[in-house]
Order: sequence, then structure tokens, then C-alpha cells
Amino acid sequence: MQAADYIQTVLRDIGYTVERQPFTKIGWVGEDEIETRIASANVLATKAGESEEIIVIGAHYDSVDTALGADDNASGVGVLLELAETFYDTPTRYTLRFVAFGAEEVGPLGSAAYVEQLSAIERENTIAMINLDSVMAGDRLYVYSGEGRETAVRDWALDWATHNGFNLQTIQHVNLDDEDGYPTADYGAFQDAGIPFAYFEATNWTLGKRDGYTQVERSYGNNGAIIHTVYDRLDYLDEVFPGRVDERLNAVVSIVKAIVSSWGTA
Ligand SMILES: [Zn+2]
Repeated sequence: MQAADYIQTVLRDIGYTVERQPFTKIGWVGEDEIETRIASANVLATKAGESEEIIVIGAHYDSVDTALGADDNASGVGVLLELAETFYDTPTRYTLRFVAFGAEEVGPLGSAAYVEQLSAIERENTIAMINLDSVMAGDRLYVYSGEGRETAVRDWALDWATHNGFNLQTIQHVNLDDEDGYPTADYGAFQDAGIPFAYFEATNWTLGKRDGYTQVERSYGNNGAIIHTVYDRLDYLDEVFPGRVDERLNAVVSIVKAIVSSWGTA
């Protein structure tokens, strides 16, 4: 709740009219995934563009009890707030909807609540969702999407990054859902609604079981994991990976800024 209040205050101080979208849903809490009724809220701000077409820029603001959550997901929220400030006074073609999601770690519930509460016309007008989740600790920066017609934003971002000196990679035909077929992050509700997503995450798919869960060499963090561990702290990341935090946040901000400004216009 303090994180939601903080985000609301920052967005309001930039100048946005901020909306709090409360929801109650069944989630799964802790290691044992105990079914629990969760009350939380999304924090929303909209920047009107020249067109009715909406790009959602989303990041969850909750973390797990075992971690402070610098990477997962203060990193995503930080990028969201930076973009909200950047675009406040800048005309854009697309309408931008900044959504800080509640209760991702027990669901993902906030993104599901957000998509459920869209009107038919809003759903139709939403042309892309940018998901920002754990973007700074991992060794490499990735962008994922669905396949087929859904790859447009991902592929544009990869191309733009290559031409502008940013190291951005993808995993094609990636399956991000868990063993039971449930989404593991906030892309899921958008994917189910047929809204193309581009999901930014820093990790390292060449390590561990090659499933993207080992983020860094095994000598760091908890056997290569930063998120959901006591190592998910800014002071630790700055100590073991000097410069990485700034470099990574700058890269993600730059790439998403380019998508918003230039995707589909040339
Ligand atoms: Zn996360």
C-alpha cells in the first residue's frame, strides 16, 4: 500500500490525474501457494495521444516477502515513472496508459483485474502492452512476445536496439507460462485478450536449465538467482555489478521511449 501511495504521489506531482483501481481476487501466497483472498489496487495514469490507439506501459509494484524487490520490481516501476515524466509534456501519436499493477507475485492478479475492467472499445483500441518486470539485475536484456501477428513491437524493438547500440535479445517461441499453463507475469491477461505484448526482462537464458530463471553466474545471488532472494537489493547489485543498474535502466527507458515515439510511424 505504501508503494502504491508512492507511485500515486509521483504521478500526481508530474501532473497526471491518477486513478486507483481496487480489486479483490483469489491468489496463491508463499512457497506453499496457499489460496488466499487478496485485496489490492492498480494505480493508473493516462496521457492522451493524437490517436485513440492505446499503448499500455505496465509494471507490478508488489514484491515477495523474502525480498526487498529492487529488481523485482522496483526496476520496472522506475522505468514506468521515468517514461511517465518524459512523455507528460510531449505530444505522442499513441495514447499512453501507465499502469502499476498490484498483486503480481500472488497471481498475477492486478493485470487480470485491469484487463477485465476494460470496456470493449478500450480493449479494441489497445494495440500493445509493454511489460516491465525485473529489468536490471540479469546479465542480458531480453524482450519477449507472442508469435504470429503479435511480434511487431518485439521485432521493431530488436531492430531499433541493434541500430542504436543497445544489446537487446529475444527468445523466439518462448513459453513463459508455468507447468500448469498459468502465466508467470503480467503479460498473461493481455495475451488472453488478444492484445500483443512486448515483455522486457533481464536474465540469462544460457545459464542453468536454460529456462531464463538463472539470471547471473551461480557465484552471485542465490545460486544465480537475484529475484525473490535477499540479494535483490540495490547495494548488492551495485557492489557486484558496478554500473549495471544505470546502464540497464537507461537501455530500457531508451528502447521503450523509441517504441512510443516511432513505432508504426515510419
Ligand atoms: Zn516480478
